[in-house]
Amino acid sequence: MTSYIDTYYKRTLTSDVVYPGLSGIHDAQICIVGGGLAGLTAGLELGRRGRKVTVLEARQVGWGASGRNGGFVSPGWAARAGQVLERVGPDHARMLFRLSMEGVAMVEDAIRDLDISDANVTQGILRVSRFENTRALEQQRDEQEAEFGRHLRLLTREEVRGLLLSKKYHQALFDEASFHFHPLNYARALAREIVRLGGSVHEDAPVLQADLEGAQKRLRTPSGEVRAETVVFAGGGYTDNVIPALRRSFLPIATYVVLSELAPDLIAKAIRTEAGISDGRRAGDYYRVVGGRLLWGGRITTRTTDPRDIAALIRREIVATFPQLETLKIETAWSGLMAYARHLMPLIGPLAPNVWSCTGFGGHGLNTTAIGARVVAEAIAGESDRYRLFAPFGFVWNGGPFGTAAAQLTYWAYQGMDFLRERRSARAS
Ligand SMILES: Cc1cc2nc3c(=O)[nH]c(=O)nc-3n(C[C@H](O)[C@H](O)[C@H](O)COP(=O)(O)OP(=O)(O)OC[C@H]3O[C@@H](n4cnc5c(N)ncnc54)[C@H](O)[C@@H]3O)c2cc1C
Repeated sequence: MTSYIDTYYKRTLTSDVVYPGLSGIHDAQICIVGGGLAGLTAGLELGRRGRKVTVLEARQVGWGASGRNGGFVSPGWAARAGQVLERVGPDHARMLFRLSMEGVAMVEDAIRDLDISDANVTQGILRVSRFENTRALEQQRDEQEAEFGRHLRLLTREEVRGLLLSKKYHQALFDEASFHFHPLNYARALAREIVRLGGSVHEDAPVLQADLEGAQKRLRTPSGEVRAETVVFAGGGYTDNVIPALRRSFLPIATYVVLSELAPDLIAKAIRTEAGISDGRRAGDYYRVVGGRLLWGGRITTRTTDPRDIAALIRREIVATFPQLETLKIETAWSGLMAYARHLMPLIGPLAPNVWSCTGFGGHGLNTTAIGARVVAEAIAGESDRYRLFAPFGFVWNGGPFGTAAAQLTYWAYQGMDFLRERRSARAS
């Protein structure tokens, strides 16, 4: 049995349920490849519509990005609002943003309806700026209020520095309606519900081959086969070459997280809020205090093998922001893969008749996997064609090795721009 890697979430996992591998031939209406939040939410949405669902997960439910992320649930997409607007225009961009808000509501609803108390929800996300930014934040606050009815509160530099004792920070927008939570306990609860609704979930069941011609699709694992009318691919950044056209449409991008030792008093010398914090840089840090420990994520890279010392890399970022945490020890560190299409929006839509893609959620997947899965489920059930809102983005070639190099260069360029902006702001203040 594959085991979860050592993360905060594994350490605080409440479920010890193990789902069986797949052996022999199984019939299903819908086969879902991938037991992350995209696949599980698709399973839940389809199960609730009375469909017989089988989920095949190569390792364990939530083993991928869904069980190792920052846990921040907020509206938006991995693509920035401006990028979406540029491609599809204002009306369409607004519809997409509303979908992303519906995704947040879906997670809240599932936690309430399925009574997932071990999702450990804490309200509030603080998005801090590392340079003087009052005017832009005011504009953002007002636009979000006028267009989407969201209430964001602008915090002055003094207020921010009362919560986060760092000279790096200036103003912030506080969103009390967004929250952070335990994504692995949440994912496991969705799997339980799929089974309760009559579906089946299989772990250690990697799909190695897919025959998608004809009315009956066949998905083969090392010791079994599922025959299904409809297939949903939801393999995230771990998607392999089973469908080459899908694999060519995204780049796997790695990112890192660390968990500190238990040190509530020391951490309180730096961080005095329960809210999740993310900084406004294009390639920024995010962190939160969980049970007296600091959980801190950051950095993205196209290098998908782990560097020798993730902890040291991230520790440098922590100490650069909060020198008072110099002595804070890191207990564990991990990486995760995200799937990014070139346009940074999800890959949602049909790949062939009755074959769907529900992947490519990048680094903003906790709300978007939910709504992505719902629009795919609605399409399969013939209820809506909301999935067409994603059509302008499409399954574009990732650029192969050139795409990888370009993505890495873009990240470095972002880092450079962030650095210059901060330096200008520091000189001015
Ligand atoms: C470190 C990190 C921090 C993040 N922080 C945040 C955050 O705070 N907020 C936020 O909104 N988003 C965050 N994200 C992004 C978010 O976690 C992802 O976008 C989301 O979880 C993707 O879900 P998924 O189901 O598409 O993919 P995954 O969760 O990766 O699941 C895909 C699953 O498919 C399985 N699979 C792949 N191929 C096969 C196959 N052939 N057969 C069977 N199974 C297969 C894999 O084993 C895997 O379990 C973060 C991501 C990472 C890595």
